Amino acid sequence: MMTKFKDYQKKASMYYVYHTIQRYMDEPFTSYMPEALFNISRFLMHELMVTQPSGISMFSTLYTLAKQARNLEAYKLARHVLDKLQALRIPLRFQEDVELAALKIRAKPFHDNEEHQPLCYRCSTTNPLVNNNGNQCVNCCHPFVYSFVSFEILPVVEFVVEEEITDEEAVHLIQQSGSGKADRVGSAHEGEEEQNEESRWKETESGDAQALMLDGSPSHMQNSDPFTSNLLGFYQGGSEYQPVTLSRQALAAMEPHDVIICRWPKPLRFQFFKNIMPDVPITHCTHCNKMFHTDDYILQVLQKGHCPFCRTPTMENADNNID
Ligand SMILES: [Zn+2]
Ligand SMILES: [Zn+2]
Repeated sequence: MMTKFKDYQKKASMYYVYHTIQRYMDEPFTSYMPEALFNISRFLMHELMVTQPSGISMFSTLYTLAKQARNLEAYKLARHVLDKLQALRIPLRFQEDVELAALKIRAKPFHDNEEHQPLCYRCSTTNPLVNNNGNQCVNCCHPFVYSFVSFEILPVVEFVVEEEITDEEAVHLIQQSGSGKADRVGSAHEGEEEQNEESRWKETESGDAQALMLDGSPSHMQNSDPFTSNLLGFYQGGSEYQPVTLSRQALAAMEPHDVIICRWPKPLRFQFFKNIMPDVPITHCTHCNKMFHTDDYILQVLQKGHCPFCRTPTMENADNNID
């Protein structure tokens, strides 16, 4: 059942993003930004390396990616994708276009604009645009967490708790830890203070960025942050993902506003994420546990009135942080 759940989760995400690509193929003048299309098709290409659910066209995905890669000067990627495209059966109306594109790309430098290369927020490694590991870091295997609208990578790092700590205790420890410090957040968040089942939105917009930066800028906290010291505890170049693991003490030292908790129903375990750039607000939908850049999310909600992924009406699950 668990494998099925994972499988369905994956497919749901794939169909969700494919909808955008399909629309782009039908009417190329959609309102999507090149960058979003680029991210989406790149995400989907990597997912398609593993499974190819029926109804998702590899051609459409790669075609979209090739186009956007060229627009964004990711020429090396565009070339790679065009090579792959030519090995597929190409619909008649696109044949000329693809052949022409494949020729034209040879005149471009064999090089990607570095601006678009994904950065791993766990280990700070710049990842290649074509990643044989799929949607996870080539160095530490940390899975990338995407904003489910723009498909930009969110600055969050997943962590797990030590084996003997239950999810509930971990949540309690994290929330406890903030009780003293959280005062400075002030009245804006008052409605959210009691973390009952109704308070379903977690937004991280406060916080002292300095203490949490990866680059080791001097922190005004006396002790070094146990989270940060745990961050690089993985086997370099290993093929297995070793998540950041935190003890009770480390949990208690966390700033609760920087933590995003995905409360999956049992028998699943909760998932914990830390926003390592608290200046970047992230919204998390408590129904589908997808995360978003808050700006992306608000825009979608204003347009559609519901969560872009699971379509839960927002009136039901959010009234605290979004005015
Ligand atoms: Zn990494
Ligand atoms: Zn949702």
